Amino acid sequence: MEKPLRLAIQKSGRLSEKSLQIIAKCGIKFGSNSRLLREEAENFPLEFLYLRDDDIPRYIHDKVADIGIVGRNEYDEQNLPLEVLRDLGFAKCRLSVAVPEGFNYTGLNSLEGKRIATSYPHILKSKLKEVGVNANIYEISGSVEITPSIGVADAICDLVSTGATLASNGLKEVEPIYRSTAVLIGRSDLEEEKKVILNRLLMRIDAVMKADDYKYIMFNLPKEHLGEVAQIIGGMKSPTVTPLFDDTWVAVQTVVQEKEFWDVLEQLKELGAQGILVTAIEKMAD
Ligand code: ATP
Ligand code: MG
Repeated sequence: MEKPLRLAIQKSGRLSEKSLQIIAKCGIKFGSNSRLLREEAENFPLEFLYLRDDDIPRYIHDKVADIGIVGRNEYDEQNLPLEVLRDLGFAKCRLSVAVPEGFNYTGLNSLEGKRIATSYPHILKSKLKEVGVNANIYEISGSVEITPSIGVADAICDLVSTGATLASNGLKEVEPIYRSTAVLIGRSDLEEEKKVILNRLLMRIDAVMKADDYKYIMFNLPKEHLGEVAQIIGGMKSPTVTPLFDDTWVAVQTVVQEKEFWDVLEQLKELGAQGILVTAIEKMAD
């Protein structure tokens, strides 16, 4: 029997749900028992290992798992010789310097000689080195935001997405030094048969991610504006055009990038488009 590819996923936390969602959208069936730490997919040679996110890079490096989903911050912090296979785009956050309200911060050089608490000493050190600042880094594994108030640190460097946690601890975010999203990482020396499985999985992930970037739209249009519509939709290959019973009108179907969607919609309306239908695309492959 084919050896499954082993995928490490955060057991419970900010990455778990979206990681599983992507795999499910790939048409892979799993999840009959949520208490398991390890399970096999029903219809694809994939085994899931549910772990703490900090442990994932090392387990991949030590060949306990083959690939995994972690925040880019965790991958860069551990700095192991692994590869980023795909940027998955979710779990957006930044690693920022934050200081107590009364701290007069004018730039990273305000940190010279200060004590900075962080769970990301490697990333912080390389940033400080880049700008020539010497500081004392106090490594701590969690609850970094309370360290200034208990007198352990003068400033912190921590992950932020909205800043609400910082504010509730009397801290202000003063400088983002690093940006992160979730990434799929793996070893570069996978056995041949696992590489084949990985490529099948990557093809599915790409189709899922591409579909998320586009919308499918259908509308009716006075035929005379067809040329202008082709211009607006630009970039994409020619839309599908179907004649209607009233031969001064046509029906048009095409895909539009999510980020351009509202602009395109307004322009279509100006050209007299009617009955505009928009749907999400589930999968999209070249
Ligand atoms: P574990 O128990 O698995 O070690 P954790 O507490 O270390 O979990 P989470 O807080 O679930 O980890 O965060 C996982 C990842 O989510 C982070 O490494 C980061 O990439 C991303 N993330 C996104 N937004 C935030 C945020 N506001 N704070 C912390 N991490 C965030
Ligand atoms: Mg962790």
